[in-house]
Amino acid sequence: MSRSFDPRFRKDPLVPTDDIPQIVCCFGQPVAGNPTQFMMERAFAAAGLEWRYLTLEVPPEGLADAVRGLRAMGFRGGNLTIPHKVAVIPLLDRLTAAADMMGAVNCMIREGKELIGENTDGKGFVESLKPVVDPTGKRVVLLGAGGAARAVAIETALAGAAQLTIVNRSLERGDALAKLVQDKTGVPTTFVAWQGDYAAPGDVDVLINCTSIGLNDPSGRVPVDFNTVPPSCVVADVVFNPAETQFLKAAKARGCKTLDGLGMLVNQGAIAFRTWTGVEPNRAVMRDAVEEFLEA
Ligand code: NDP
Repeated sequence: MSRSFDPRFRKDPLVPTDDIPQIVCCFGQPVAGNPTQFMMERAFAAAGLEWRYLTLEVPPEGLADAVRGLRAMGFRGGNLTIPHKVAVIPLLDRLTAAADMMGAVNCMIREGKELIGENTDGKGFVESLKPVVDPTGKRVVLLGAGGAARAVAIETALAGAAQLTIVNRSLERGDALAKLVQDKTGVPTTFVAWQGDYAAPGDVDVLINCTSIGLNDPSGRVPVDFNTVPPSCVVADVVFNPAETQFLKAAKARGCKTLDGLGMLVNQGAIAFRTWTGVEPNRAVMRDAVEEFLEA
């Protein structure tokens, strides 16, 4: 495999020299156990790119310095995870339209002197949903109203969903997300307060768990009455560890098609990879790497 650089990566005057690897990173806290570095480095190697991915523990009070350092050292970009997705916004030069709508950034891209904020979470979700069901014209119920829910709701609406229902425990957050989606995308969106086991409407086409219930907890139960979910409904979970959550097991037992969170994880990373490098990554390599890392 050639170890020389692709000439496309030499045009940027902010990169000090072509003779060192290009660097991207992830800022988060706590960030140990995040599978992205393992997945990205496998994909860089498969593409023959001299790029490196660093996972960096950055506390909230260190974020501004970390972003300054990233700029000074000519990093090509980076990912942001908990708790930095919103706090990073004032430190960037501009946002993409989608990140601006969501008010959250999971991916920084350096273009010349500018650092641009993008959000690939929702796009990654929609890319993994489409081979299972095209969201165009579908009635979608989304459980949760946190960062992942914002990204998934906006991109699912932009992908052509006919209507959205946001179900959330905290009234303020759920109501705010329903209003945001409707205002920004024009797709009719309602909020339902979550009390006890959620009873799904009989005409739901896609049901998505965007809460953190089940994360690192194979027995974590999402309070949904699956007797009300039609077997024709596609049921998706954004939780990727474990890949087969209790929520997806219950959906399968009901006869529904299911979609795990690994597809979203791989796709959001693949979109970032392509944006940083200009090269389409091998998604099968990325999926294998994540499964190996998580022992899925
Ligand atoms: P947030 O903390 O921003 O939001 C968590 C959401 O879960 C809130 O809506 C919260 O409700 C709800 N929630 C948590 N516990 C309960 C409970 N016991 N009962 C009812 N609702 C509950 O987290 P994120 O949105 O950032 O992340 C959510 C999940 O998405 C995580 O598991 C994360 O790993 C996953 N994720 C997956 C990605 C992938 O690529 N597959 C990418 C990004 C995230 P309330 O508002 O009432 O507190």
